[in-house]
Amino acid sequence: MQLPSSLLENAVNEFSRLPGIGKKTALRLVLHLLKQETEEVQLFSDTIATMRRNIKFCQRCHNVSDGDICAICANSQRNRQQVCVVENLRDVIAIESTQQFNGTYHVLGGIISPLDGVGPDQLNIETLVQRIAREDVTELIFALNPNIQGDTTIYYIQKKIQQYPCKITTIARGIAFGGELEYADEMTLGRSLANRLPVESYISNR
Ligand SMILES: [Zn+2]
Repeated sequence: MQLPSSLLENAVNEFSRLPGIGKKTALRLVLHLLKQETEEVQLFSDTIATMRRNIKFCQRCHNVSDGDICAICANSQRNRQQVCVVENLRDVIAIESTQQFNGTYHVLGGIISPLDGVGPDQLNIETLVQRIAREDVTELIFALNPNIQGDTTIYYIQKKIQQYPCKITTIARGIAFGGELEYADEMTLGRSLANRLPVESYISNR
């Protein structure tokens, strides 16, 4: 893409480094900014820079936070005995959006994946073990993606905390609501049968 200005080109290159943004989309965004007042563009870039500079991560659960402890951990109405283990911040946001969970979280910051060079030491696993040792955690709920890396991570953490009297569960894996059985893959259908629910709890959870 030939651009008539190196300033324009630099801005397009920066935008196109963002996930899901190609060169054409980057150019469209930059041209949009060019139409704005200088002050508005300044505010836009200041907001992003301030967010990056000042954002903190919760010392207890590693969720994003404005202070040392995040709003979820600081909320006395949340059940601190239940800890939902997730891979990243997007998972916290997704689960919070369901309004079905009143416990707290622990954000691992990734998942064990030797092929990608990610081992347990690069994740927030030690702080999770410390939480279980020090706090009165009665249930650990794994809400990780259903794949080999997710299962490996669950297995590793389970081994690390087996001396503590803490119940370990995982979110159900099964047929999507509104889905059709004949189109489900064998593994999903097999797991759905193995993890079947009493019909009373199925109805009451709907
Ligand atoms: Zn927190």
